[in-house]
Amino acid sequence: MTTRADGVAPVLQVRNLSVAYQANRQWLDVVHDVSFDLWPGESLGIVGESGSGKSTAILGVAGLVANNGRVTEGSVTFAGQELVGASREVMRSVHGPGIGMLYQDSLRALNPVMRIGDQISEVFVAHGVSGDHMATAVELLTSVGIPEPERRIKQYPHQLSGGMRQRVMTAIALAMSPKVLLADEPTTALDVTIQAQILELIKQRATATGTATVLVSHDLGVIAGLCERVMVMYGGRLVEQGPSEQIFADPKH
Ligand code: ADP
Ligand code: MG
Repeated sequence: MTTRADGVAPVLQVRNLSVAYQANRQWLDVVHDVSFDLWPGESLGIVGESGSGKSTAILGVAGLVANNGRVTEGSVTFAGQELVGASREVMRSVHGPGIGMLYQDSLRALNPVMRIGDQISEVFVAHGVSGDHMATAVELLTSVGIPEPERRIKQYPHQLSGGMRQRVMTAIALAMSPKVLLADEPTTALDVTIQAQILELIKQRATATGTATVLVSHDLGVIAGLCERVMVMYGGRLVEQGPSEQIFADPKH
């Protein structure tokens, strides 16, 4: 494993990751040979045009590739543990306290028939955390800037605006203070006027929990403003990587 000059090891190490999907009985390689390191507390951006494989790469890292797809090659090491080929049980224990996910579509990511408070509480129950979960849920909603949290925990997802739902998702994803947050275009479905606000919130909360983030976006400007380092994907490959200022000032792709 690579370590930095200061002896710190990466929290996530991705090596030669390739992901393929099967369609019409053919396997099609969609992500090829992706390698990167994510350091504790770091914010890393992935940019690239639509269809360049950003989501597939993220899902490959998280072990959540769709049923018709699979990781065909490579390795994902999280906190020293290999995730490619790991059992469901291992992945369940990693999701939440190890790796949190944030998706674009908060309405699909939340359970429509479960109250907000119960969905937050479920995370703690699943990971064996005891205590007053509703009180914690109220605290968490407060931390992500949701007014009247005592009223909100009793509501269902459809009773909240898209922005409020993405705040809830942020609270849930970071509830266990994961080492890594993978956020796949988390604000694309939202009104432009609140996108920047939600991204700022995600960044602020991730910093508070000491969580390293991988933020996917098709907007280089957004990434440059929020991430220290950027990777550019094109046609399923990482074609460029470097400090945000450098890529933003002189983008090759
Ligand atoms: P991005 O997130 O950069 O827009 P994706 O990872 O979603 O790109 O998609 C990369 C390519 O993989 C696209 O050509 C897309 O059509 C294809 N793809 C994504 N999901 C599936 C799937 N479940 N089955 C087959 N092809 C898929
Ligand atoms: Mg995508």
